[in-house]
Amino acid sequence: MINNALKTKLEAAGFQFRTFKIEHLEEISNVFSDLAEQGILDMNFYRDNLTNFNFCCKNMMDNPKSVIVIASPQHKSFVEFRYEGKPYEAVIPPIYRYPEIKNKITDILNSVFTESSFSFTKPVLPLKLLAVKSGLGKYGRNNLCYVPSMGSFVMLNAYITDYEFEEDNWGDIQVLESCKNCTACIENCPTGAIANDKFLIRAQKCITNFNEYDVPMPDWMKPDWHNSVVGCMKCQVACPHNSSFIDMVDERIFFNAEESKLILNGCAFDNLSQETRNKISNSGLGDYYHVLPRNMRLLMD
Ligand code: SF4
Ligand code: SF4
Repeated sequence: MINNALKTKLEAAGFQFRTFKIEHLEEISNVFSDLAEQGILDMNFYRDNLTNFNFCCKNMMDNPKSVIVIASPQHKSFVEFRYEGKPYEAVIPPIYRYPEIKNKITDILNSVFTESSFSFTKPVLPLKLLAVKSGLGKYGRNNLCYVPSMGSFVMLNAYITDYEFEEDNWGDIQVLESCKNCTACIENCPTGAIANDKFLIRAQKCITNFNEYDVPMPDWMKPDWHNSVVGCMKCQVACPHNSSFIDMVDERIFFNAEESKLILNGCAFDNLSQETRNKISNSGLGDYYHVLPRNMRLLMD
């Protein structure tokens, strides 16, 4: 009953999902630490980025039973700033514009679970790994998750619930068959982050791991490698699995000259007008406001 209601509502919204037993979270809790210990994953990257997952969800909910992983199609958006009389446009890659999708999913889960007195909550989990292990998607050579009919332009979310789903979708990690004979993402990655001879990308060379944070850009990062207001699109743009979605644009967000000046000059978020704050939050850039002026200037320069 709950499974059918969830399926109907998520599919009507254009989303796909898989469910699996909560016990599997424990199975994968050591994946990243093992890779770091084996030297396959950079230890500093592991410490900084991969140690905050809630694999043990018992402190978040009494008796959690299942995990739901949801994939929603998401395309690039554009922001446009006006500065000193000139327009500057920049891409927001698909994964950043999440507030609208998250609200839609929350509404659906509320309508399905709350009426039946089951609960759900959203822990921090390695979403791509869960999507691949549950069969929702497959890894590409660029370590992104590809979902059928969405490509890598997908927003992933995972929730735990005290409802026990019958379906326990869990299996081996799958990689796209076409990666065997394709090197498009390797060739289009400006930094050399994607390796030909091993599966894990060199995360410490990925642009995303610099421009999402308030850290100095390394000397080896060439100015013309910057291509997005945050994150990087280069390996996704080159991938044949994304060719049907590459020109799709979800939204264009305009900041007028006054708003642009305040943002680019580093005005504190709370001192912006409510309207400007809403534009930033709805565009998914709220979490990245602290790096927005620097990133925009890198693109403008
Ligand atoms: S996101 Fe950019 S830097 Fe990172 S692997 Fe892809 S192309 Fe390379
Ligand atoms: S560009 Fe080619 S190698 Fe890279 S993820 Fe796509 S299919 Fe795989």
